[in-house]
Amino acid sequence: MTRQPTVEWQVCGVCNYDCSYCIQSKAARVGHPSADEVERFLGFFGRLPGRWEIKMTGGEPFAFRGFLERIVPGLVEGTSHTISVLTNLSAPLGQLERFARLSRGRLGIVSASLHLEHVGLSEFVEKAVAFRALIDPAARLVVNAVLVPGRLEEVRAAEAALEAAGLRLFPQIMKVGPGVVDYDEADRVHVEALVGVSPGPRRANVAPSYAGKRCWAGVEYFVLLQNGEAYACRTARRFGQGRLGNALDGTLLRWDAPSPCPYAICPCTVPANRGMIEGVGDA
Ligand code: SF4
Ligand code: SF4
Repeated sequence: MTRQPTVEWQVCGVCNYDCSYCIQSKAARVGHPSADEVERFLGFFGRLPGRWEIKMTGGEPFAFRGFLERIVPGLVEGTSHTISVLTNLSAPLGQLERFARLSRGRLGIVSASLHLEHVGLSEFVEKAVAFRALIDPAARLVVNAVLVPGRLEEVRAAEAALEAAGLRLFPQIMKVGPGVVDYDEADRVHVEALVGVSPGPRRANVAPSYAGKRCWAGVEYFVLLQNGEAYACRTARRFGQGRLGNALDGTLLRWDAPSPCPYAICPCTVPANRGMIEGVGDA
């Protein structure tokens, strides 16, 4: 699988939802960069050599006004990178329309997260269909949903409704602490129906282990936080390792070469789906 250099940029901490299963603590879901910091981030991306996919996450990117007002236009005008976004799709349709217009010709993937604690299924599906029609035809829109124990019938109903609307559900096994949740027998039937028995990283996120495999995290993939701090990958950060420096003070340095993964869990499918892990993906 060809490697797609990718940075996952947490553009802000702030989020307009408060999901019970959020992996970010409530205390962490605050803040956003200042106007000056946004300019420094844009300068950093302007100098980043090559064509990267900049996958923007939060919090909720649309909950930060600077996202639509400055970041998206700044990336389109000042860089040649591809733009992707992870959103809960709660922004008013007018804002989504503006995003679609601004990112035309440069949009990679929209990952829309379905949070049934905060939104009705039909309302979400309607908006996702409307947004799909607005964005680049070549861009992908994928709907994610966390498989919350005891509430999997809802997710299966969502899968059916999305499929009927021509959209695909990407189920995510729920993470707890350093691992994943242990589903009971009743839930396991639904989990298997939703994710299959041994799904690949494009079908579902089951947080597998790639320990020992050569990985380009830190080289052609990294995670960038709203304060400019950069880490090779999410797991490395969780263990207090893999710090690459800071994009805002000009100290960010990527590693020269891939190295074997030292971790027992890889909780995020982005490195796997961008060809960063040897032997994993569509190859
Ligand atoms: S929308 Fe995402 S970031 Fe916001 S509370 Fe829910 S899971 Fe957390
Ligand atoms: S395989 Fe996953 S956990 Fe391991 S180094 Fe790469 S991105 Fe990190």
